[in-house]
Amino acid sequence: MNKNITLDNSYITLPDIFYSKQLPARAPFPKTILVNNALAEELGINEALLSASFITGNDIPENAVPIAQSYAGHQFGHFTMLGDGRAILLGEWQTPQGKTVDLQLKGAGPTSYSRGGDGRAALGPMVREYLISEAMHGLGIPTTRSLGVATTGESVYRESKLEGAVLARVAASHLRVGTFQFARQFGTLDDVMKLADYAIARHYQEIADDENKYENFLAAVMERQAKLIAKWQLVGFIHGVMNTDNMTISGETIDYGPCAFMDTYARNTVYSSIDVQGRYAYGNQPPIAHWNVMRLAESLLPLIHEEEDRAIELAETILQKFPKIYHREWMEGMCAKLGLFEEKAGDEQLVGELLELMEIHAADYTNTFRAFALNTFEGIALFKTENFLQWKEKWEVRRANQEQSISQSNEFMKQHNPAIIPRNYLVENALAALVNEGNNELVLELLNVLKNPYTYSPEQEKYAAVPPSNDSFKTYCGT
Ligand code: AMP
Ligand code: MG
Ligand code: MG
Repeated sequence: MNKNITLDNSYITLPDIFYSKQLPARAPFPKTILVNNALAEELGINEALLSASFITGNDIPENAVPIAQSYAGHQFGHFTMLGDGRAILLGEWQTPQGKTVDLQLKGAGPTSYSRGGDGRAALGPMVREYLISEAMHGLGIPTTRSLGVATTGESVYRESKLEGAVLARVAASHLRVGTFQFARQFGTLDDVMKLADYAIARHYQEIADDENKYENFLAAVMERQAKLIAKWQLVGFIHGVMNTDNMTISGETIDYGPCAFMDTYARNTVYSSIDVQGRYAYGNQPPIAHWNVMRLAESLLPLIHEEEDRAIELAETILQKFPKIYHREWMEGMCAKLGLFEEKAGDEQLVGELLELMEIHAADYTNTFRAFALNTFEGIALFKTENFLQWKEKWEVRRANQEQSISQSNEFMKQHNPAIIPRNYLVENALAALVNEGNNELVLELLNVLKNPYTYSPEQEKYAAVPPSNDSFKTYCGT
């Protein structure tokens, strides 16, 4: 029992269908692999507490009531009962800034929701989640964070025998669209209401006293999600498994399974080995997010209005705004990527033409915009084409047609076009060195450089190279 850290357990004030008490499995030989000292400091957690025993769940805080949360979800369009099958929520931590965050151990052993699974996680995927989630944070995108990874000393069996590990994850909360689907499907109206009130108290206090608070709740979640997905699109992030259980109520990115950053710009890009239909392809992410928010709306209908027809009408009025909110956020971001401070008539077309050319000429997404920010139009085939040169002329005229100077515009582009992203080959090489050789140098280097992706510093150069070949790259989840 750890007496040095005190957690709250507000989740267990919810009706008991929402969770099962569950202690983490005992790790025989815990060993620390990564600790996020900067995050610990930010959260006001004494980093000395972040021992391997703590991360693996051997040493749980005194008075903690560890639980697994129940939820359901649409997985690739099919509704299923799920729940934390391999994650245990230790409780909530209050930061010095007065924020409440969940502290969860992923890979800490089986729960009553494990179905056929072993409740375990392998080292590679946990380090991968650590790396990508921290990179997302560096990019300024709302995300769950990673506090540490420790191996358990146990093997986990997938296609081969792998080292078992636990990831300590920090999130604004682990409430998901799927938590509401669970409540609606398996609980009472009162359960749905208690869950909604809990979510509002935790994430949307500003609407707590509104007369139509459940409508406003739906609208508020939708807005955060629309803006989140716009941010993903702007950096070329592909989540890979946008099932409704992997969409948070807080608006943070969650569950880094088969995710990856797009290299060559193509809207149909898919990296996940299980997404054979391309449901979660890059270009489908906005409509899928909209679809997922519709599932949230369905779960909330009886709270929105007692008459179903009226509730549907009210929900539809909200839902139809998704594309507009998304598009506005995305266009604002695209304008910034092109050094344009405010959108003007014609910008939509300018952006559209560029993306079309990028797709036709298979341009690298990140490096095309990086070149714009650096004002060096070399090394990318697209830049030599007649069509691009014509486009560039239009763009230059447009850039000159704003109050701000060209140098301000260049600076603005640097702030919105990351010089580096966690390229798949970099991530895979770093993980291989750590998992196969116990060498964490590359992982630490990557983590360090990805903290500040917008600085355009010389040490970033070597991470900006495009991969040797990305044709066969696939990611695997669930390990
Ligand atoms: P995901 O695809 O990561 O969103 O996971 C979907 C569901 O599968 C969740 O309910 C997870 O808790 C569960 N799950 C994934 N891996 C395991 C595992 N190794 N053991 C038990 N449950 C798992
Ligand atoms: Mg998940
Ligand atoms: Mg997962």
